[in-house]
Order: sequence, then C-alpha cells, then structure tokens
Amino acid sequence: MSGATAAPGVPANAVAGGSAYDAIVVGAGHNGLTAAAYLARAGLRVAVVEARGVVGGAAVTEELGGVRVPALAHTVGRLKPSVVRELELAKHGLSLVAPEVRVFAPQPDGRAVTLFAELNRTWDALRAYSADEATSYVEFDSRVRSLAGFLADLADEAPPDVRAPGFGDALLGLRLGRAFRGLGKDDGRTILRVLAMAVADFTGEWFSAEPIRAVTAWRGVRYTAMGPWSAGSTAVLLADAAGNDGGGSGETVYARGGPSAVAEAIAAAARAAGAEIRLNARVTEVTTRDGAVTGVALASGEELRAPAVVSGVDPKRLLTTLVDPVVVGPSMRWRAGNIRTPGSVAKVNLVLDGLPSFPAAGDDPRLLRGRILVGASSIDDMERSFDPSKYGLLPSSPVLEATIPSLVDPSLVAGAKDGTHVMSVIAQWMPARLPADAWAERREQVGDLVVRTLETVAPKLGKRVRARQVLTPSDLEAEYGLTGGHPLHAEPALDSFFLWRPLLGWARYRMPVDGLYLAGSGAHPGGGVTGLPGRNAAREVLADAKRRRR
Ligand SMILES: Cc1cc2nc3c(=O)[nH]c(=O)nc-3n(C[C@H](O)[C@H](O)[C@H](O)COP(=O)(O)OP(=O)(O)OC[C@H]3O[C@@H](n4cnc5c(N)ncnc54)[C@H](O)[C@@H]3O)c2cc1C
Repeated sequence: MSGATAAPGVPANAVAGGSAYDAIVVGAGHNGLTAAAYLARAGLRVAVVEARGVVGGAAVTEELGGVRVPALAHTVGRLKPSVVRELELAKHGLSLVAPEVRVFAPQPDGRAVTLFAELNRTWDALRAYSADEATSYVEFDSRVRSLAGFLADLADEAPPDVRAPGFGDALLGLRLGRAFRGLGKDDGRTILRVLAMAVADFTGEWFSAEPIRAVTAWRGVRYTAMGPWSAGSTAVLLADAAGNDGGGSGETVYARGGPSAVAEAIAAAARAAGAEIRLNARVTEVTTRDGAVTGVALASGEELRAPAVVSGVDPKRLLTTLVDPVVVGPSMRWRAGNIRTPGSVAKVNLVLDGLPSFPAAGDDPRLLRGRILVGASSIDDMERSFDPSKYGLLPSSPVLEATIPSLVDPSLVAGAKDGTHVMSVIAQWMPARLPADAWAERREQVGDLVVRTLETVAPKLGKRVRARQVLTPSDLEAEYGLTGGHPLHAEPALDSFFLWRPLLGWARYRMPVDGLYLAGSGAHPGGGVTGLPGRNAAREVLADAKRRRR
C-alpha cells in the first residue's frame, strides 16, 4: 500500500498500492450504500457500482401511469434508528411518516382486525372479538417485544467465529450471555422453546379467535416459502419485531417520496463523505490474484481495482457467478449453490382513479393508511394459500399485504388527477422455481387474481384501476437481481439464521476469498430495509484494515 495517503484516522494499509479505491461496493441497494457510507465516513476511498440506472435495489420508487409507486418494498419501518442517526439521514433528506394504524385486516364476516400503534386503541378494537382476546393481545405484544429485544442484540453483532474463535468471540459470547440473562428466567426459557416453533402454534398460545391468530402470524411467513405451520416461522416473526417498535403488530412506516428516499438519503451521506456512486455499471467478475480480491470487472470492459470488494449482491449470485470457481473451490461453490432462494412473492402495483371503498372500514379512510391484510382469516386458510406453491401451482386465494401510500404521502401522485391513489400489493404464495416462460404466461393471471382477491373486501376496486404492473418472482430475478426472486436474498429459515447466514463458518461478513465481504440481506441479520447487514459488514472491513496495519 503506498503512493496514496490514507485520510486521517484511516489505517494506512487500507490504501492499496496501485488501487484507485480502498473498497468497491457491488450494488447500490440500501445495504451496499450503508456499507459505503460507513466506509467513506471512516476515510476510505469508496466506489459503489450498480447494475441498474437507479439506487435502492429492492427498495425503490418507480414511475407507473404518470405517478410514483413503491416498485417492490413499501414500508421502511425496520430501518435501524442508529443507522438513521449515525449517517444523519434526516439531514440528507430522509423523512419518515408513521400512520396511527398499523394493520387493517377486513374479514369475510364484515368485521376487521385492526392493530394500532397505540396499544390502548388496539385493545379497544379487539374487544369486538372478545375482552379475553383483547387482553391476550396486550400480553402477546409485551412478550414479543421482550423476546425480540434479545434478537435485536444479536442483530447488532457479527456472529462469533466458529472456525477459529478468538478473544473477541469470547467477549461477544459474554455480551450475548449478558443480553440473554437480561431476558430473565421466563423469557430465557421461552425464547429457546419458541424459536423453532411454527408461528401457528406460537400465536395459538394466545389467541383462539382465528382472524387475530392469522393476522398476528402473518409476519412469520411474509416474504418466505413457509406457511404458518412451517417450523421456524416464529423466529421470522420475532426477527421482524427486533430493533424497532414492531411489537405484536409490526411496523408500518413510509418514507416520503417512496422507498427510494431511503437509498437516496444514504447515497447522499456516502457522497458527502467522498464515495463515488456509478450507475449502469454491472459487475461481471470479482477479480482476484493469489486467492485475494484485486477489484471488479464491469460489463463495459472497464476494471476497477481495490483490496476490498464488498458485495451488496446476494451470496448465491456472488459465489456462483461473480467469482472464479477455481478460487471459490468446488466445495464452497456447491454449498453456495445450495443456499435456498425460493421466491414466493409477486408484486402488483396499481394506480387507482379514486379511493376504493372497504365496507369493513366504514367511512373512515384513516383505517386504510396502514398495511391492509387480505386473506388472513384463519391459520388453515393461510396454510391452504401456501400449499399449492409446493406443487408449482398458483393459490386460488392468495394472502395479500397491500398499502395505499398516497394516503399518507400525496407527493407520490403530485400532478395527477384529483383522487388518484397508488396501491402496492405483496401477494403470496407464488410457486417457486417456475421457469421464466411459464411466468410470462401467468403474469396477467396473477394480476387478475390479486384484483379479484382485493374485491372480496373492496367491491368494484377493479373498476378503479387505471394502470397495473405485475412483477412475478421471475421478474424480481431478471429486473432487480434477486436470485430465485427471493425478496430477502436467502430464505430466513433456521438453516439460514445467525451463525448459518449465509453459510456456517462464513457468517462474519467475510467471504471465502481474502478481501471479499458480504453486506447485503443474505448476511446476518437478514433482509428487510434495516441497513444492518451493511453497517455490520463495514465494521468488519474496517476491523480487518486496522488489524493488517498492526
Ligand atoms: C416485492 C418485495 C416487497 C418487499 N417489501 C418490503 C417491505 O415492505 N419492507 C421491508 O422492510 N422489506 C421489504 N422487502 C425486502 C427488502 O426490500 C429487501 O430485503 C432489501 O431492500 C434488500 O436490500 P439490500 O441492499 O440487501 O439488497 P438489494 O436491494 O437487493 O440490492 C442489491 C443491489 O445489487 C445490484 N446488483 C445485482 N447484481 C449486480 C451486479 N452484477 N453488478 C452491480 N450491481 C448489481 C442490484 O441491482 C441491487 O441494486 C421486499 C422485497 C420485495 C422483493
């Protein structure tokens, strides 16, 4: 490392001889950008190279029918508050808005399960089912918060090194031990008991009203190829509640301007610290010499050099397509090829020429400002929606999580005719592993199915649709680079949790090539708009640079 001088506070050996950069980040999803921002703020010379023409990856706002829609992710409430603070994202333009209602789940009998940010209001609303159920919800919420608190502590740390544990791992063990003891005897035993449980059983311990059980179970299966009776779905629910105000209802927070606003604010923070962000720059290869990375090759033919390459791209794609198989080695390539990425989510975006009427909401449009859950009427109905996906079939009645973000953020429909709204719908469960041509035939079928299902709770909604976009798992792979169309870069099951994410022995953000790191959702603590894999990975990159200097 030579010629170039390190910025103040930066390890001198972080600056490579002959390299234009100290680190290259592949992919400008919010995690890649988060890693870039932390590295640049520590003084490293950072370049981010993104295949698409926009930043944001799976959390992006795009144009549809003359208005702006959240193309994939719609809510951003899991974004870690410390990341927002440390990167000064408010100063860089991020503005979040949280409606008072978190979930509104209309039911076939005309009632609705409604969960509010305020516990008292939820209690009041659930008494329509029974006073006992309402009281159980308060206990459920408190238990979820407490158990998720421990997972939040895990999420902040790089998992310990199982191959060559050192002093740092012993300290980490102590810290986590302390966090575990902090749970107390009761919660300590409970978390060990429930993590592997099916979320149907977990919610069944509190609720006997099926609609409440199904609504509270949903976050355990959202974005996954698991049904409510799948083992390990409780861990997914608790992880969703970790590190934020998720509790029993989950977060519903929007970014003003749509989800791209998150990535744009992080990109602004990274640029302000000196990072360079290149769009339309697809990486075709992570280049190596003598088993260590030397940089990246771009589709344009250009090569960029750096001693560290940080991947915001999913681990399966990274290790099976972007690094020389000889360098990865046959055994690691085989393991990476087996990372499970079953995409079971379709995304349907609608532009509506007026607010649809949901009879269960009465005349109160405020109830439509949160997540609208359709098809969560009973655990068995949800499981029946899931079942056909295992056999390559579409569900006859999918479970939908919809939002109408223009109700809280009119900027999305600025300039459109009065009354225009955008609706964003996540539809599950799609059959994983269908080839692209099979999806092409089914694309409009999925769109029709989603509109028909919405009409079961919002009659005549279809008549309001002015523009429609349907993204199948195959589109998520082809357009957004999500291998298998998986929204979270890898299934968040127990075989891909903490020490096992993405692979046992490689959970500490370092990949099996010297200088190669993983910073995207395929790394611990997983997917969702959190910024955590990116922040944790940057910490490890900086720690290695410091270690090399000693
Ligand atoms: C339909 C859908 C709905 C979702 N809804 C929500 C939600 O409401 N709330 C929530 O919290 N989470 C949601 N998620 C999950 C969340 O969006 C993702 O987990 C998160 O955005 C992933 O961020 P990331 O930075 O880890 O990776 P990505 O956002 O996937 O970023 C990876 C980037 O790498 C780029 N890339 C890929 N290959 C290359 C290459 N060869 N060269 C250069 N660049 C490359 C991609 O273009 C992309 O920009 C949803 C996901 C989907 C698909």
